[in-house]
Amino acid sequence: MMKKVVKFGGSSLASTRQFKKAGEIIRSDKTRRYVIPSAPGKRNDKDEKVTDMLYACYDAASAGVAYKKLLNRIKDRYLEIINGLNLELNLDYEFDRIEENFVKGIGRDYAASRGEYLNGIVMANYLGYEFIDAAEVIFFDEQGNFEPDTTNKELSERLEHVERAVIPGFYGSKHDGSIKTFSRGGSDVTGSIVAKAIHADLYENWTDVSGFLVADPRIVKDPEVIETITYKELRELAYMGASVLHEDAIFPVRKEGIPINIRNTNKPEDKGTLIVESTCRKPRYTITGIAGKRGFCAINIEKAMMNAEVGFGRKVLGVFENYGISFEHMPSGIDTMTIMVHQDEFEEYEQSVIAGIHRAVEPDSVDLESDLALIAVVGRGMKATRGTAGRIFSALAHARINVKMIDQGSSELNIIIGVKNVDFEAAIKAIYDIFVSAEMR
Ligand code: ASP
Repeated sequence: MMKKVVKFGGSSLASTRQFKKAGEIIRSDKTRRYVIPSAPGKRNDKDEKVTDMLYACYDAASAGVAYKKLLNRIKDRYLEIINGLNLELNLDYEFDRIEENFVKGIGRDYAASRGEYLNGIVMANYLGYEFIDAAEVIFFDEQGNFEPDTTNKELSERLEHVERAVIPGFYGSKHDGSIKTFSRGGSDVTGSIVAKAIHADLYENWTDVSGFLVADPRIVKDPEVIETITYKELRELAYMGASVLHEDAIFPVRKEGIPINIRNTNKPEDKGTLIVESTCRKPRYTITGIAGKRGFCAINIEKAMMNAEVGFGRKVLGVFENYGISFEHMPSGIDTMTIMVHQDEFEEYEQSVIAGIHRAVEPDSVDLESDLALIAVVGRGMKATRGTAGRIFSALAHARINVKMIDQGSSELNIIIGVKNVDFEAAIKAIYDIFVSAEMR
């Protein structure tokens, strides 16, 4: 029988109503055998995530400040779900232990992890699946780094004879038994680790959007959903700010060639986005997606005969390295070189870096241009298509947007365009229109 791992995000499990939707989804497909729940998330925009409430409650309890009210509000979140689902489940014992540990000051990671832990118990009870505490199967070393090999061995052995199980997301344990979490949103990572361990056919990640969108919906109205995306394309887009999935969730399944399907709990009929290693499926449009970020700064360095000076680039980059600033792009001409950096990382050291460059390479001039935005146009379809760059630039020209920088990666998977911050949104709209809206017609 096929095996699917299904992870449900916080908003998918925020209330009785959402739990029921998740339950229906799981029960409607017998191959959905391993379930990874997040902690209950927000029920609406003004609501709080249980994880955040746990952090706050722990900070108060461990500091000897009043915390009972907050703890009761957390209990209420679970009671609403347990009662709503008519479960014969009582979490009093669990909550007593949690309270004791909080007062003792057991640690923030333990505190945060209880959201998933309790939700896992509830989910297992609701589905009639076995509950497996993630602390017993997911491991971290002394420094808190995830241990993929030990985890994979332990987890696959443990799950070999378990047909259906609920394993809470987000945490595991160190060898001394203390709880350690992944970074925020880390249940995505747990899902991926479990999918790898059981050689799943598919890792379904259920959330509150119908997949990755071609562009940011705050900029483009009702953008199309990306049907299929490769891991590489996703990496490019995610790096530029498109976030649906935790960055580290890709690695475990990618190595095993297991696809991830992003699905919408509130619209289970939507197919969502399929993330794959590689595919013959032609993308619907020439481009797969557009993403971007504001807040970059360009450092333009000029020096006559720069081209003949061996080691020039290394010396310049060394200055940035000395100040711990990473560079994003480095377009260059014969006698010019531009370094693009994140403005907020750079600002503090601005004058020292300029002085450093003067000392290192004695340039004719160094000038700065701030408030730039970078836009990544990403797509495996661009490789085989002539004229993509031409279309992008004519669209931008028509929208009266000046292009400050162009960088096409050698993989031909993406074209990065630098524009002024003020032109950021208009540029994304223009690119979306020329590829998606125009090709749709
Ligand atoms: N509950 C955790 C968080 O809010 C982890 C997760 O939801 O994936 O970050």
